[in-house]
Amino acid sequence: MYNIVLFGPPGAGKGTQSEKLIQQYGLTHLSTGDLFRKHLGEGTELGLLAKKYMNEGHLVPDEVVIKMVEEKISETKDSKGFIFDGFPRTTAQAEALDEMLSHHDLEISGMIALDVPQDILRERIKERGKTSQRADDQDDEKISTRIQVYLNETLPVASYYEKQGKFQNINGVGEINEIFNQITSVIDSY
Ligand code: ADP
Repeated sequence: MYNIVLFGPPGAGKGTQSEKLIQQYGLTHLSTGDLFRKHLGEGTELGLLAKKYMNEGHLVPDEVVIKMVEEKISETKDSKGFIFDGFPRTTAQAEALDEMLSHHDLEISGMIALDVPQDILRERIKERGKTSQRADDQDDEKISTRIQVYLNETLPVASYYEKQGKFQNINGVGEINEIFNQITSVIDSY
């Protein structure tokens, strides 16, 4: 059983690699961004609440995200493990995740970070914006806000796992398959 946190700034390729990882290992993909977008699309109360934060590139409040993840973990039975994508994004979320996994006798196997320079992130997000129809992919200011929020609020989460000896950094620039192979060799070492 693997419980993996796939980490990195917006545009690092977490979603792309998650798709491949769930196929290879039969894991459950838990992407908080995807879950919020699903709520948004369905027009739920949670979706409406999240919308104003997401569209501006800000984080949705911790308690809202944590509750949504808790529900998803509890309702997922007989999983071979999870790929957490876009979560945890704050140290408070990381602490809450450890706590909720412990209730199910589970723990994080490790965090794998995709390292991508800022100029490439910006290019990738703008390119994705042409087809993603995501409001937060559309303009430079929102993209800058997201990168800044990542640096200020999310980067400390890497130290949280580093202190536990659970952090691995990977070069996120290159061929998708090459990056995937690097990720799988880390996972296979768990
Ligand atoms: P990206 O990694 O490209 O920024 P995501 O799909 O992971 O995209 O997230 C989109 C938006 O959803 C974020 O900018 C934020 O507003 C919200 N969001 C997703 N995950 C979290 C989280 N763990 N905590 C707070 N907000 C979140």
